[in-house]
Amino acid sequence: MPSDCAVIATMHGKESVIAPLLRGALGLRAELPPDFDTDRFGTFSRDVPRTDTPLATARAKIAAAFEHVPYAQIGIASEGSFGPHPQVPFVPCDSELVLLMDRRNGVEVVGHHVTSRTNYAYCVVTESEAAAAFAQGVGFPSHGVIVIGTEDGKSAPLKLLRKNAMTMTGLLAAVAECVALCGAAYLETDMRAHRNPTRMRAIRRATIDLLRRYRSRCPDCGREGFVATEWLTGLPCAACHAPTDRIRAAVSVCAGCGHRRERTSEAAWADPGRCDHCNP
Ligand SMILES: [Zn+2]
Ligand SMILES: [Zn+2]
Repeated sequence: MPSDCAVIATMHGKESVIAPLLRGALGLRAELPPDFDTDRFGTFSRDVPRTDTPLATARAKIAAAFEHVPYAQIGIASEGSFGPHPQVPFVPCDSELVLLMDRRNGVEVVGHHVTSRTNYAYCVVTESEAAAAFAQGVGFPSHGVIVIGTEDGKSAPLKLLRKNAMTMTGLLAAVAECVALCGAAYLETDMRAHRNPTRMRAIRRATIDLLRRYRSRCPDCGREGFVATEWLTGLPCAACHAPTDRIRAAVSVCAGCGHRRERTSEAAWADPGRCDHCNP
């Protein structure tokens, strides 16, 4: 039973960034499940609706990948979600998650990377000039663009769906076909990793975050994934010493042995501007 095998639950080329990091950081040999269809878990390209949370979907992908590669000890899956930035309206945001599951000991570790560096965008067009301008703006052809049918100004993938245009000529032909059929075409950036190098970089960053967390071990039992998961507020006000809503400590709890570590924050006192007593 090869103990150095990690299965990567992907079919969109994500292994090209994940596998070298796994090998370098953990000495693991990555395998892909043969004939693996992650599209059935929901895709960005609208054929299958996405229903679960990204974490639940990643868990389901890993479970399916373990069935394909039964001797793998470790499973990896990645999920991205795209939309408006949670703090900055009108700024699009890519939130990437990479999950590692080690079935020898039940360790589950999640890495994240959230970035506004994404080409995520969509628009409705009726003319090829507007379609070409959109495509150039989002980095086509190095980044994919998907053409979707429309109904009442909304996307209607059941009417038409073309996601494999590699040249401007091919893309504009799909747009013309769509406009002839529906009166307008809904264009969307292709967020599948192999057609989106910008997203691929974000997946790499999330994988690096994952490996950093995984390699942090419990000082008591050595279990991987010993990272802060809870933050305690109540850092005292520098003027009146009353507790504030600032963080005073980060708490790590080992899922294996229950070992608990509280790391107090570097700042000893909170700015009185954050204090309800001094600055109500
Ligand atoms: Zn105060
Ligand atoms: Zn422990």
